Amino acid sequence: MTQNHQDTICVQGGYTPGNGEPRQIPIVQSTTFRYESGEEMGKLFDLEAAGYFYTRLQNPTNDMVAAKIAQLEGGTAAMLTSSGQAANFFALFNLAGCGDHIVASSSIYGGTFNLISVTMARMGIETTFVSPDCTDEELNAAFRPNTKAVFGETIANPALTVLDIEQFARAAHAHGVPLVIDNTFATPVNCRPIEWGADIVTHSTTKYMDGHGTAVGGAIVDGGHFDWMAHKDRFPGLTTPDESYHGITYAEKFGMGGAFITKCTAQLMRDLGSIQSPQNAFYLNLGLESLHVRMQRHCENGQRVAEYLNGHEKVLHVSYCGLEGDKYHERAKKYLPHGSCGVVSFELPGRDAAERFMNALKLAAIETHVADARTCCLNPASTTHRQMNDQQLLAAGIPAGLVRMSCGLESADDLIADIAQALEKV
Ligand code: PLP
Repeated sequence: MTQNHQDTICVQGGYTPGNGEPRQIPIVQSTTFRYESGEEMGKLFDLEAAGYFYTRLQNPTNDMVAAKIAQLEGGTAAMLTSSGQAANFFALFNLAGCGDHIVASSSIYGGTFNLISVTMARMGIETTFVSPDCTDEELNAAFRPNTKAVFGETIANPALTVLDIEQFARAAHAHGVPLVIDNTFATPVNCRPIEWGADIVTHSTTKYMDGHGTAVGGAIVDGGHFDWMAHKDRFPGLTTPDESYHGITYAEKFGMGGAFITKCTAQLMRDLGSIQSPQNAFYLNLGLESLHVRMQRHCENGQRVAEYLNGHEKVLHVSYCGLEGDKYHERAKKYLPHGSCGVVSFELPGRDAAERFMNALKLAAIETHVADARTCCLNPASTTHRQMNDQQLLAAGIPAGLVRMSCGLESADDLIADIAQALEKV
């Protein structure tokens, strides 16, 4: 059978009902599952048989949606988590433990930066941050003998840098470790990092995948290409017996295609319990059904808005890789040939100008959210970073007048008219 196109997978992937079964994926709103004998259930606990026993680890609704996301990313296995934060934490903690080290792009979502640089550091996992525009020499110099993973975002939130995925994959593989890519902003509709060499892909499904501001969630996808057994000593969690699962060696029993997600589910979900609720997985699936259609419009609106802002006398600078003069335009042509996302960042002359502009907007709402059907915006200086003065903001690379606008699915003409009247107040 030929592989379906992305559009078809968005609509029908992950679940094929049998005769007389529900056309829409069923929400299995049950914490537990009944078995006829203790022996049958014991096989599940031994990972000898596949099946469900407790929703803290796995649920059929989640697995149908995860299967769709795996197909979209071109992966071999996937799982849903309660949030994007949980997805990134699980993906990295499945590889690295106390005494280990990670190499990460410095241009990543602030929440992930905190997770890695503060919380995971407290757990004994150190990280070296490198510029997304580093040379091969700089990147290679960041590795240590105890490095276990490389991490970056396809399109970074909020800096909108575009990662050279092939460069980061080459370096990761030369040092015998997998590349983990957060593909939240691009979505698999616009970029499939596994095709460029990434090994594990993560998502905050809260963003475009859900797309309607409905359900917080995350996903982890395994590309199935990383040979754990070829790096046996580096990844003992995958390549030596897990005594908490009766001596199973994940890489031997589940192979390259299944070891990573099985370990992550069997160990981390079991112990840390950050699963997505089946109800949220259902909402996520509704979002996925139209992801391919929505992404196209988000990108068209982002492009139109970026072009308008770029020519405006009151706007000091616009970041959007779809713009010809953008620093990441050439890289975007390679990795994001059909569009990037709907998020545009631009600089107004100072904090007051940004506040006056945002307060005057009528369609776009002030929110910490991005990647929603409804246009929203944020001035980091007056919200998420308000504890910093203008000098501190500049040092952090966030001009006081920066506005991050997430273009929704409204008419681009209406969005531009709204922006135009708000800029008059600046
Ligand atoms: N990754 C990226 C790129 C994000 O933008 C976010 C949130 O904004 C996250 C991860 C965290 O996701 P969540 O808010 O679903 O925990």
